[in-house]
Amino acid sequence: MKNRELHLHIDGSLRVNTVWQLMKEQKIDLGLTKDKLDTIMKVPSTCKSLDEYLERFKIPLKVLQTPNAIERVSYELVKDLADLGMDYSEIRFAPQLSIHNGFSQEEILKAAISGIKQAEKELGYFKAGLIVCMMRGQGNEDLNKESIYLAKKYLGDTVCALDIAGAETIYSTRNFEKLLLEAKQLNLPLTIHAGEAGTKDDLEVALAVKTDRIGHGILSVKYDDIIERLIDNNITLEVCVSSNLQTKVVDSVDNHPVRQLFDKGVRIAISSDNMTVSDTNIINEFNLLKTHLNFTDQEINQIRQYTEEASFL
Ligand SMILES: [Zn+2]
Repeated sequence: MKNRELHLHIDGSLRVNTVWQLMKEQKIDLGLTKDKLDTIMKVPSTCKSLDEYLERFKIPLKVLQTPNAIERVSYELVKDLADLGMDYSEIRFAPQLSIHNGFSQEEILKAAISGIKQAEKELGYFKAGLIVCMMRGQGNEDLNKESIYLAKKYLGDTVCALDIAGAETIYSTRNFEKLLLEAKQLNLPLTIHAGEAGTKDDLEVALAVKTDRIGHGILSVKYDDIIERLIDNNITLEVCVSSNLQTKVVDSVDNHPVRQLFDKGVRIAISSDNMTVSDTNIINEFNLLKTHLNFTDQEINQIRQYTEEASFL
């Protein structure tokens, strides 16, 4: 069984060289050398929190304000995933973060779909799903509503689900419960970032709105009642080990709760979250499980099975 990525952010998985070229093309001069850009796009080992981790996205987002740029990076990411030996993956991004040059969320989303389709066509064997992210924040409710509308409009045309991303410690999932319910009522498949850096309540909301999957969700290891509900409802956790270490929600690989969660019977999918920001990939993530958490080949295959079953397409 092949590896699959289910939790991968486009804007956190850009080729450094592409960002460099886009900066030149778009005449964005930040006084950086290419080496410095490379350093800035990857999280330092001294990173203290999820909020600091999210800072890494600021520069890449500056070059992702046009449909052309979005089309290019979506295309390249699918190619990069194919190069890692995969034939299926789901990638995600928030169109509302790319509208600062006056393009609409729909133009941006269509560009991503187009880039993905181009790569799929060239490869001939790769299937990619696109997850539309809403953003945690304040004053962006209309933008989030538009994201829901667009996810619904393009569902089945590469788009496969809706998510909410952003700073969980600042904006709790509870603030977005109504929006998430609206999305669920439209029969949109849902995956929700929750239980990463937040609290039990974030997981409660995700469960209450009947999410199909949870991004991270590792906090659930502390609560037997949550674990029971995850198992009863066949909810898969998209676990990203390196990312959790960098955002300091887990202090060492050996202490990562993925071992305990898996042993308790929770469905797990392993992902890299952000290949560039976290400086990792799916092969490296599985290696961490084998070398630090004693996952056997059979257990790894069980995770691959869970991943296939949790795939939206
Ligand atoms: Zn994520």
